[in-house]
Amino acid sequence: MRTDRHAFNLDAAAASALARRPGPDRARIEEVLERTRALGGLTVPEAADLLAVEDPEGRAAVLRAASDAARQTFGRHRLLFVPLYLTNRCANDCLYCGFRRGAGADRKWLDGEEVESELEALARIGHTRLLIVAGEDRHAAGIEEIGLTIEAARRRGFVEAAVNVAPLTVDDFRRLLDTGASRYQSFQETYHPETYVRVHVGGPKADYAFRLGTMDRAVEAGFRSLGMGTLLGLHDYRFDVLSLLSHALHLRERWGEGIAVSVSVPRLRPAEGAALTQAPSPVSDDDLLKIVAVYRLALPWSAISISTRELPAMRERLARAGASHFSAGVSTSPGGYARPHPPMDVTQFEIADHRSLREVARDMAGEGWIPNLCRRCDEEEAGRAAYECQCAPHERGECLVRLRERQWAMDGAAR
Ligand code: SF4
Repeated sequence: MRTDRHAFNLDAAAASALARRPGPDRARIEEVLERTRALGGLTVPEAADLLAVEDPEGRAAVLRAASDAARQTFGRHRLLFVPLYLTNRCANDCLYCGFRRGAGADRKWLDGEEVESELEALARIGHTRLLIVAGEDRHAAGIEEIGLTIEAARRRGFVEAAVNVAPLTVDDFRRLLDTGASRYQSFQETYHPETYVRVHVGGPKADYAFRLGTMDRAVEAGFRSLGMGTLLGLHDYRFDVLSLLSHALHLRERWGEGIAVSVSVPRLRPAEGAALTQAPSPVSDDDLLKIVAVYRLALPWSAISISTRELPAMRERLARAGASHFSAGVSTSPGGYARPHPPMDVTQFEIADHRSLREVARDMAGEGWIPNLCRRCDEEEAGRAAYECQCAPHERGECLVRLRERQWAMDGAAR
């Protein structure tokens, strides 16, 4: 396989030095926050200064600035999506994951009929945005099956079909793009090389360098929308957040402004069958709020996604800190939507928010958000499309978010 000399290459020593910066004084915080008002993003050293803020007053100022930025980019919209797990088979041995090879007995790959049943269940509930997920099982998790899933999802009216599968070669990424995948997502988990090797002990994912080059290969193949993330709790969060920002900036510098990066901020959760159940470097609620706020200020137009790993109250606080995308009504078990609670369930992690899509939407609306399931303002992953729509029914016809709310009210859907 040829080597891409221009792919992202982390300067770990520089990232470590930035991650150890002492907290900035009040004047520096104000100076950096002032710069964010134009929604031009942050440099990595500026982000390092904000991540180093520890005092309550400084943290509150960072959260306020992020909240203001989110209001300008996403307005009151908070977009809802759902992951569809095609398989829980995986060739890797990631110590924190319930899908790792050797853990649990009941492994399966959904067949075509089961995929249709899952999609039908999700469309009936009201979902419009799909994230297709598969573990790394190269024999089974074929690109062809993903293509068939996307086709079936489009037939059922899903407007977005993002894909989270194992890193591929450029040629295989081209095949994946041809399936109609709207976004490619893969998390580095941790950018810290030694920690990475310690927690990825078997399978192709143990290759740190191959994973680090994933996004460059995806863009070379033609993907323009990329989902990135680290598993918070594996290593010092300041190091990992700053490394991810360096990575995102590298992609834009190398490949141009047309690259849309979205960020996920999962915290390590217990999982049945996982060997690592406690985070080696725990991330507190306050730290997670600060992380989301810094991402919002650094990448003001980017989606920031929150999973059901977080409790409902925390998800609401994260929405106020600038998170824009929320999974809802989730099962991490293949087949778990058409057949809730399958026997001998193998799941990727323990879910903390068990609310249905309808309950999430209702609670969000109660907090003043527009829980966005719109089929029209979803075409772009960045916030501008959602913001510009602003659900202005008088200008753009009846908004589908409102139609969905009314449908729920009328049909009294149980979920
Ligand atoms: S984290 Fe992903 S790659 Fe690792 S074991 Fe779990 S499903 Fe497989």
